[in-house]
Amino acid sequence: MSLPKRLCELQQVDFELREQQGNLDRINRQLGESEALVESRSSLTLEKAHLAELERKQKDLEWETGDLENRMSQLNEKLYGGRVKNPKELFNLERELEDLKVKLNRKEDDLLEIMTEVEVAGDKVQVAAKQVEEVERRWQREQETLAQKQVEVDSQLLALSQRRGELASQISSEVLSIYEQVKQRKGRAVARVEQGRCGGCLVTLPLTEWQRARAGELVRCGNCGRILFLE
Ligand SMILES: [Zn+2]
Repeated sequence: MSLPKRLCELQQVDFELREQQGNLDRINRQLGESEALVESRSSLTLEKAHLAELERKQKDLEWETGDLENRMSQLNEKLYGGRVKNPKELFNLERELEDLKVKLNRKEDDLLEIMTEVEVAGDKVQVAAKQVEEVERRWQREQETLAQKQVEVDSQLLALSQRRGELASQISSEVLSIYEQVKQRKGRAVARVEQGRCGGCLVTLPLTEWQRARAGELVRCGNCGRILFLE
């Protein structure tokens, strides 16, 4: 294998290494984290809190209506029990009873309203709980897939760095350092020559350079400095 071809392969390996490293970084970021999971759980918590608040209000209203009913039945007993004879007192009792009736009606209306709200909130809790379940299931599957991918990418990275080591061991340190320098400046250190032109900067090469490159010598583009490679 000619030196330029070896460098071209090294470049390919470097490119794949960078790509796989990017994949691994992305996998590592996705492992364990899930915005959707956090969001669905917190919305379930909110719906549950809302339901609990409404249920508490319902209990209060039930207690208040029960209390009003008790007071009314006591008044009824007084009114119709025959023990109270004084007309003024009876009149007052009747008025009090009327007041309580109005209050009770209002409370019962409130109670009905709250009961409807409790039902709606209960449905919302169920929907949110189902959502959490679904998101958790999906998340679980994703995590398993990601863990598998992580293993695959890890082994690919290992194979690539071994391949890189092999290639680099067959290239002199001077040439390697040229390669690294150009790579740092240009991104890609090796340019293929196509139709007599440098594939990196598209400048037409002098015939002698083209011939040397074709013969497998280490030739750099006079314009951009890239290492030239001809198949
Ligand atoms: Zn060039």
